[in-house]
Amino acid sequence: MKLPSLNLQILFGAVFGVMLGAYFHGLGADHQVAQGGVYAASLVGTLFIDLLKMILIPLVFCSIAVGIANLRQHDQMHRVWVTTLLFFVSSMAIAIGLALLAGNYFKPGAGMHLAMFEHAMQNFQAKQLPLPEFFAQFLHGLFVNPFLALSEGNVLAVVSFALMLGIALVMAGDRYKNVLALLEEGLALSMQMVGWIMRIAPLGIMALLIKLVAQQDVAMLSTLAKFVAVVVGTTLLHGVVVLPLILYLFTGKTPWWFWQGAREALVTAFATSSSSATLPVTLRCASAHLQVKPAIAGFVIPLGATINMDGTALYEAAAALFIANLVGIELSFMQQLIVFITAMIAAMGAPGIPSAGMVTMVLVLQSVGLPAEAIAILLPIDRLLDTLRTTVNVEGDMVGSLVVQKLLSKHAS
Ligand code: ASP
Repeated sequence: MKLPSLNLQILFGAVFGVMLGAYFHGLGADHQVAQGGVYAASLVGTLFIDLLKMILIPLVFCSIAVGIANLRQHDQMHRVWVTTLLFFVSSMAIAIGLALLAGNYFKPGAGMHLAMFEHAMQNFQAKQLPLPEFFAQFLHGLFVNPFLALSEGNVLAVVSFALMLGIALVMAGDRYKNVLALLEEGLALSMQMVGWIMRIAPLGIMALLIKLVAQQDVAMLSTLAKFVAVVVGTTLLHGVVVLPLILYLFTGKTPWWFWQGAREALVTAFATSSSSATLPVTLRCASAHLQVKPAIAGFVIPLGATINMDGTALYEAAAALFIANLVGIELSFMQQLIVFITAMIAAMGAPGIPSAGMVTMVLVLQSVGLPAEAIAILLPIDRLLDTLRTTVNVEGDMVGSLVVQKLLSKHAS
């Protein structure tokens, strides 16, 4: 019997995972079948993420170095940099703008009080995260002994070392062509292994979603229904309307075309809630299905997975307004501008792992004097919201690689 295509299997896996998770949730956490099911799902789901993480570091390292090295001419390298960073900052700015507009219009949390959540906030101590310190830490984390960074799986530091290596290879011309050939073969081999890992993706994604849905805290979800609706609504607006529109305007590619090529990565991001774990799949989609040249994809996608996070930026701004409403403070225009800027910095600094945005959100709250402890209210629902914002984060990276490619080709022609 012929199996359906991998894309279709992944979609079935996701739908089936949500249904089975809801069934286990209905049985209750004490039910033996539910316990066994969630245990098995957790084993399979973790195995899938482990495999993706295993290949992540060699893949990122080779892909960035090769990507940069293949942008042979200097001025082309410069243009890729500038275009990519401009795209990242603009798309995140639009996302934050949407969140602020929606937050001011719908005012989620107005009429509720922080005191209502006293129970949730007990025992929660927010970590201090002042902006100068955060910035210093971020900067300090950029340049690390590459062997340490590779062995620790420190994506940001691996990215910066690979960037430098790539630049050195460009500068040297043909002198180190053996090293470049080695890296190119390393990249091809890593991609081959990603292909194998993807064969179990339908199962892995199903397992991750079973666990997520089965363990969801429904009570908190309904208390915060309005906030959840505003966040989900704006995130969807950004992911389904804004980003596809940007893609269409710049490249003429339709949303359907994009969805067909990108869905493996989008569904994996949804299930893993981690841009980093999804990165091998995102690279595969960009270069194999969306026809982004390896030199562009190899640079834009890994960099995007670490710093370009539209969904996270949007969420951080929306949550700041929500918490301000809970405390009964109306944020002034200036304060909202500070939220705008810090939300962008916090999103850029958040690593691509589950709930990372929650940690860096402290920065946004503190910048306008809101109580960071209020994050405790959002924690129980975070895993659920993280699914969607990670999907939009990953979508932004792929759209970015297509737009950058188009802008550069226009310039070259
Ligand atoms: N989970 C997100 C990501 O990996 C980061 C976040 O928590 O917002 O992209």
